[in-house]
Amino acid sequence: MALKALDIFKLLPKTNCKKCGCPTCLAFAMKLAQKQTSLDQCPDVSEASQAELAGASAPPIRLVTIGVGPGQLAIGNETVLFRHEESFYHPAGFGVMVSDTLDAAALQARLALLRKLKFVRVGMELHAQAVAIVNASGQAAPFAQAVQAARALELPMILMSSQAAHLDAVLAACADQRPLIHAATDATADAFIALAKARHGPLAVAAPDLDKLVPLVAKVRAAGIQDIVLDVTTAGGSGTLQALTAVRRLALKKNLRVLGYPCLAICRQADPLAQVAECSMYVAKYAGLVLTELHQPEQMLPLLTVTQNLYTDPRKPIQVEAKLNAIGAVTPDSPLLITTNFSLTYYTVAGEVEASRVPAYIGVLDTEGTSVLTAFASDKLTSEKIAAFLNSDEVKSKVAHRKVIIPGYIAVMSGSLKEDSGWTVLVGPREASGISKFLKTTWANA
Ligand code: SF4
Repeated sequence: MALKALDIFKLLPKTNCKKCGCPTCLAFAMKLAQKQTSLDQCPDVSEASQAELAGASAPPIRLVTIGVGPGQLAIGNETVLFRHEESFYHPAGFGVMVSDTLDAAALQARLALLRKLKFVRVGMELHAQAVAIVNASGQAAPFAQAVQAARALELPMILMSSQAAHLDAVLAACADQRPLIHAATDATADAFIALAKARHGPLAVAAPDLDKLVPLVAKVRAAGIQDIVLDVTTAGGSGTLQALTAVRRLALKKNLRVLGYPCLAICRQADPLAQVAECSMYVAKYAGLVLTELHQPEQMLPLLTVTQNLYTDPRKPIQVEAKLNAIGAVTPDSPLLITTNFSLTYYTVAGEVEASRVPAYIGVLDTEGTSVLTAFASDKLTSEKIAAFLNSDEVKSKVAHRKVIIPGYIAVMSGSLKEDSGWTVLVGPREASGISKFLKTTWANA
């Protein structure tokens, strides 16, 4: 069982030296208990304590990375069953399966589609996070060719074959990209373990049910492989869902280390709409990686949107960067509107400014992701803060006039803002829908 803060505290040096960045050893113990820091941040912990704490401080579900660099996919390290208990941290990734039976033209067309498969939603770019090359031909050459072609996508790869020799041949060229090797089964465990050890790659382990999965994972762990992904796919969606749920519960509630790894589920419904529904189900509970043959934009958009929503921490609204943004071909005489860094507020305002076709600056203030009224009510959007922004070098270097437009909801602030900033304050509309008319009439005559 995981240790509590006081148990951890007893094992720390108790010198309050602050080298870990915490003011006291107790504060560090509390952070460690909440898995918000790692033991290696304390350089003075004794070896005996280290040994005792290492196991207890390890996450109940290991964080496994697939791929390298900024686009790498990190899955696992989740600590709760339900998002409202805390948060989900590592969004489920989608791996689009591409068969090596596609001819060269069809393969290139599929990869080109994947390359273009991107959506921007509330300021975040959404896309498939991995490509899975399936050795459906059962032969080495087409598999190697498909893997070679897929490497150009620069996405994390999942290499799917039942033949360790075929995998070994392609890994010789791409092991440094850390692809996920899929998958060791009861029949192939020894060869796949040897492969994963030789190539230092993460290894998927697949079994038809948990009774068979547990001893198989134990064998892989005993061989020294730590980066494991559990493939719990069964013949039907409901069986897979049950397995995903059981693994998460056993890992978190029973601290069953042998199942403390992220899971993957493969969706092979023939009907694309049914596949969208099934994939969404796996994202909700509790796949870290979903492999699907879906690749059309209209199929991927709902999946990526569901994932983004589920993995957005409700306590931390999605925010945009607090800075001066230019919409359209602005000049130093363009109007300057003020808003908050709550992304929905910002994008609503930006959309209306864009639609007005009046080039304008939008000054985004950091209000910790709250909307205008909430920020104002909680003193996160004050006249002093706006005044400091207006008189900053960032604004002075781009805006020649001294007239600012504030949201109508904070009209009451106009007097104090004028006093604090020395700027002329124009009270804009309450709703963003009034921005276009305001810019074309009130601003034009100001
Ligand atoms: Fe305590 Fe270690 Fe942090 Fe120093 S570095 S305050 S000894 S936990």
